[in-house]
Amino acid sequence: MALIVQKYGGTSVGNVERIGNVATKVKGWRDQGHDVIVVVSAMSGETNRLVELAKATQETPSPRELDVLLSTGEQVTIALLAMALAARGCPARSYTGSQVHIRTDSAFNKARILDIDNQHIRADLAQGRVVVVAGFQGIDEAGNITTLGRGGSDTTAVALAAALKADECQIYTDVDGVYTTDPRVVPEARRLERITFEAMLEMASLGSKVLQIRSVEFAGKYNVPLRVLSSFEEGEGTLITYEEEGMEEALISGIAFNRDEAKLTIVGVPDQPGVAYKILGPIGDANIEIDMIIQNVGVDGSTDFTFTVHRNDYKKALEILQNSSIELGAREVSGDNKIVKISLVGVGMRSHAGIASTMFGTLAKEGINIRMISTSEIKISVVVDEKYLELGVRALHSAFGLDQERP
Ligand code: ADP
Ligand code: ASP
Ligand code: MG
Repeated sequence: MALIVQKYGGTSVGNVERIGNVATKVKGWRDQGHDVIVVVSAMSGETNRLVELAKATQETPSPRELDVLLSTGEQVTIALLAMALAARGCPARSYTGSQVHIRTDSAFNKARILDIDNQHIRADLAQGRVVVVAGFQGIDEAGNITTLGRGGSDTTAVALAAALKADECQIYTDVDGVYTTDPRVVPEARRLERITFEAMLEMASLGSKVLQIRSVEFAGKYNVPLRVLSSFEEGEGTLITYEEEGMEEALISGIAFNRDEAKLTIVGVPDQPGVAYKILGPIGDANIEIDMIIQNVGVDGSTDFTFTVHRNDYKKALEILQNSSIELGAREVSGDNKIVKISLVGVGMRSHAGIASTMFGTLAKEGINIRMISTSEIKISVVVDEKYLELGVRALHSAFGLDQERP
């Protein structure tokens, strides 16, 4: 008998029939004698719908009120799942994040879980009940409802698995595992049987939204065995794990991409100490996160800066940059929000040279212009025009031998 935490994403609970299917699966695990905790997301599209409602009501709603609103999506699905379980003769109880004391900090819309009081959950499990917990939400010290950022139900599941020392955390979604790249973009993508926490963390942070980054961080930190599986078909899925002896580290684990970025450039600023601070300081003060940064070599005492931010922050960042430009006497400010970042990820890259040149050569052959480059030991990222995303990802996927063999 094992203690298992399962998470079902939005598509998996997208309508009453699917919630019924989830209930049947959950009951199956419990009937085998396992203790089961289920975390669910809101029905697919629901969180987006709520965001739109908020925007239509107030241009910039308070983050606190937004969380009160967004947390309702998951409250609907926990209740429906508990009912569907009961209808199948499986005792179950649903709980919101605050009811099981998922305590977070007060960073509304992107709160971090601090701790979980698992007393209720343990008591229910001991009584033979399935425990259904709302994903994506918690409560801060002052009793405010918080949410964990988009995709946050993954993190709820992993945090519960860590707190209860579960034997496995299973993330059920609409694909049957983690692939070498998003299978919706590259049909030839291959499912990975295993991937290391390190590579998965890098994939997630570079845009593969199959798992929320924090869920991978948490699982790595607390050594939670984590598996991504399909809600709709049987299979082994993908195990995210520490590197094991004999596990051959792939040169390239996969290709991630991010469509959510925008780039900004300021041209002709004085090449002197403190300039980066004067340009990027006000951006940071406005709580805008900067991703890539490039400063060109100074010529004739002046230099250029280019950096990327989340597309949602593009307009605000451009305004701030325009103000700084007047102060700094810069020549020009420009921006582009139709760019994407494509990244090659592989822990095995560490010990191999020549990967960057293959990457750049492949993009060149397709006539794709590279606008920015950034590298680390285990990844190479390039920024290209949005229209080249599919072409670029497919070309790289094939150039690095990641395509699955055709039957
Ligand atoms: P859920 O609603 O179940 O949380 P998500 O939409 O958050 O599901 O995550 C699953 C989606 O992640 C898939 O439908 C797929 O399009 C996307 N995805 C992106 N990169 C990958 C990848 N490398 N492997 C598998 N899926 C990926
Ligand atoms: N419902 C939330 C979202 O759409 C959380 C989740 O699904 O993980 O982002
Ligand atoms: Mg998700």
